[in-house]
Amino acid sequence: MVLARLSREFEGTAVSGTVIGGDHSDYEKLRKVWNGLWDRRPAAIVRARNESDVATVVRVAAEHGTLLAIRCGGHSFPGLSTCDDGIVLDLSQMCRVVVDPVARVAEVGGGVLLGHLDAAGSAAGLATPAGVVSHTGVAGLTLGGGMGWLSRRFGLTIDNLLSADVVTADGRLVSASPDSEPELFWGLRGGGGNFGVVTKFRFRMYPLGPVLVGRWDYPPEAFAAVLRGYRDLAAHAPRELTTAFTMTATNLSLTAFWSGSAEGSEAVVRAFGMLARPRSGMVGGQTFLELQSRSDAHFAWGRRYYAKGGFLRDLEDRVIDCLVDSIAGAPTPDSELYCLQLGGAITDVEEDATAYSGRSASFYWIAEPVWDDPDDDTRCLHWGRQAAKNLSAMSEAGNYVNEQADVGKDVSYGAYGAAKYERLAGLKTRFDPSNLFQLNQNIEPKQGI
Ligand SMILES: Cc1cc2nc3c(=O)[nH]c(=O)nc-3n(C[C@H](O)[C@H](O)[C@H](O)COP(=O)(O)OP(=O)(O)OC[C@H]3O[C@@H](n4cnc5c(N)ncnc54)[C@H](O)[C@@H]3O)c2cc1C
Repeated sequence: MVLARLSREFEGTAVSGTVIGGDHSDYEKLRKVWNGLWDRRPAAIVRARNESDVATVVRVAAEHGTLLAIRCGGHSFPGLSTCDDGIVLDLSQMCRVVVDPVARVAEVGGGVLLGHLDAAGSAAGLATPAGVVSHTGVAGLTLGGGMGWLSRRFGLTIDNLLSADVVTADGRLVSASPDSEPELFWGLRGGGGNFGVVTKFRFRMYPLGPVLVGRWDYPPEAFAAVLRGYRDLAAHAPRELTTAFTMTATNLSLTAFWSGSAEGSEAVVRAFGMLARPRSGMVGGQTFLELQSRSDAHFAWGRRYYAKGGFLRDLEDRVIDCLVDSIAGAPTPDSELYCLQLGGAITDVEEDATAYSGRSASFYWIAEPVWDDPDDDTRCLHWGRQAAKNLSAMSEAGNYVNEQADVGKDVSYGAYGAAKYERLAGLKTRFDPSNLFQLNQNIEPKQGI
């Protein structure tokens, strides 16, 4: 019924998107999301082209009480950008990026991928901090926070958000910024897709010259010593330097990324290659755009993934021991523990200034099993959850909603803490009292208000 209604609406008005039902030749291709764990069959996939299409879909879903999934890049770990029997609002056609090189501002459609934003910025010698895999969606990433190689220098993605245009649950187009609907603007910066569909973001950008990337691979017998040495070096890192490491059962890959002036940078970066005898290593020879897509193939569409992350104040010895012990039991060769250095500009913003929580952390970790065979689901999920449980016991309160493959009130409540959850629930009650936007790390509207 909802498919027939949507088709009528889209055919009968000036709406320009397309409605894809189960009998459409593109249905099988378009219903897929990045995480192969989720094999869902929506009643309709609507490929919106503009705000008016988005408003129509939102209105129809609200009137029919239909489950509504919002999709930008489709990279939700828990598969929240698809659903069975409901509507998927696919924003991938709203993929325009316009960079103003003089104002250093990017206008970004609600369906843009990171690679498009990075490429458009790079053509103007500019960048805005975002994530590290180019096929991830800007919208999903931004609404949760957004961290990557440039965050220590320029802040989280949300710290550079100037404004957002949002279609709310009643079908209105609202502009949110520090001067317009400031409370909504607060909630959008970390509160996920709870408050509406963002059709356009405006981001501040920064000049980005040549960068220096160093990367080394270390064998298992060196893991513990390398991580202890790494911790001591990272503690003195200036903001221009960001480091990260990825562990699999057989390899520790350590990256040092420098984005400041070239003078003296090589010695700072090379120090990370001297922590033990690396198997292999390289310094230089990689542009920012190349770095931003170097993990694309590893995180290919259609494989099976779980993720759970947390924040660390420090890489204490017991954390390092836990990382080393946990990775030894990794269930598949591609399963990994990842750790990104935070701090720097992220801490310039007050904890209460945005819904995102966890600004005081120095490191962010993720336990991430990766597999292909459905028969491995149980053991891979078990490993991911157990490794995360062990690391969580040593982590700070809070978590990053964008990289939690489990869902439920305890996840979102745990991410924001009592005070922020209460504030977010107030905002939710105002903008989405019937919880139309519920396929996210959900903030429940308050009852009976
Ligand atoms: C391979 C990979 C690498 C990653 N790397 C990083 C990283 O480096 N840094 C980082 O911070 N995070 C990273 N993440 C986490 C990432 O930020 C989240 O998975 C994010 O949700 C992906 O956004 P998406 O648009 O691709 O997802 P989608 O699945 O399309 O959307 C996820 C959710 O976001 C909401 N949403 C999406 N679009 C809109 C919109 N236009 N308006 C309103 N709500 C919307 C919806 O609630 C939806 O369920 C990574 C994830 C993956 C899978």
